[in-house]
Amino acid sequence: MKFETLSIHVGNATPEQHQAVVQPITLSTTFAHGNAAGMIYTRANNPNRDSLEKVLAALEKGEDAAAFSSGNAAGTAVYQALAPGSHIVAPDDMYHGLHNSMVQLFGGIHEVTFVDMSDLEAVKNAIRTNTALFWIETPSNPLLKITDIQEIASLAKAQGAILACDNTFATPVFQNPLTSGADLVMHSSTKYLGGHSDLLGGALITAKKDAFWEKIRKVQHLGGAVPSPSDCYWLSRSIRTLAYRMKGHASNAKALAEFLVSQPQVEKVYYPGLAIHPNHAVAAKQMHDFGGMVSFTVKGGAAAADHVVSKLNYFVNATSLGGVESLIERRAAVEGPNTTTPENLLRVSVGLEHIEDLIADMSQALG
Ligand SMILES: *Cc1c(COP(=O)(O)O)cnc(C)c1O
Repeated sequence: MKFETLSIHVGNATPEQHQAVVQPITLSTTFAHGNAAGMIYTRANNPNRDSLEKVLAALEKGEDAAAFSSGNAAGTAVYQALAPGSHIVAPDDMYHGLHNSMVQLFGGIHEVTFVDMSDLEAVKNAIRTNTALFWIETPSNPLLKITDIQEIASLAKAQGAILACDNTFATPVFQNPLTSGADLVMHSSTKYLGGHSDLLGGALITAKKDAFWEKIRKVQHLGGAVPSPSDCYWLSRSIRTLAYRMKGHASNAKALAEFLVSQPQVEKVYYPGLAIHPNHAVAAKQMHDFGGMVSFTVKGGAAAADHVVSKLNYFVNATSLGGVESLIERRAAVEGPNTTTPENLLRVSVGLEHIEDLIADMSQALG
């Protein structure tokens, strides 16, 4: 089955006696002992979560998937599953919430080194004898840096460490890190997988059901940060249109990025689909398309960037990404005083409005 077909036909367990076309929501928290499906209690398993996990594993070409109540819960599950005293190599540009989780929650438990993951020598120099996890995010948030997944996978293999990739920006439509040698994929399903800015969720997908995966399953089950059956239902519903939404996001993003490059008020555009992106070739090698996120810096500093945001009509000034509506924010203002993000950088989640309306709006705001 191809991606679009998998999205629709995997993980839709419909009860036979009703011939319902769509799997219903099973709200029950508990199941009578001896049931054929082996269900026990909804924190451990639930028909809607099972179905969601099946489709996620299929789309990421993994052996198994675990759904969580948020992207941060999924990422944090990986750090929880590591043996205490492990060393993590992580990107200098990554989702700030998971950066903060590594530093503020796990700072006393693990060691972490942040490096530019597109600089292979820097990554090699960061490796220690106790390095147990390479954490990558490609494209990265918010600088759209590209990491060569295969290169880091071979370093991880040589070290006997796990490679986990935050695939939120690319989505499984455009990138399958497991096929490039990653061991784990992480998603904030809150973003493109959910796609409508109305649910929180996270996921981990594994290449192999190994001992580390058993540990992850324990964190999910015993830690208990699981999504509700209703959230699993809505997420499964959204995933059925993921491939088509992503095509729209990527084509709008490319057109907006190209427009921004031509604008005199714009200092620099960050989009891996542009030939001027320093790692465009790596992106083209490992991605089918370049996603819906574009960042750019505005001449005149933070105030000029804020002014552009204030003049926009269709781009909502809000955090988050991946919904049908376009969002924009000055990222440094959100990330706080320790951020390395340029003060005048605007991050855009390019939505599914008509591209001509988006470009006209951006044009009047810059002008
Ligand atoms: C939003 C986001 C997360 C965290 O996900 P939540 O669902 O908000 O917990 C992690 N990684 C990336 C790249 C994100 O954009």
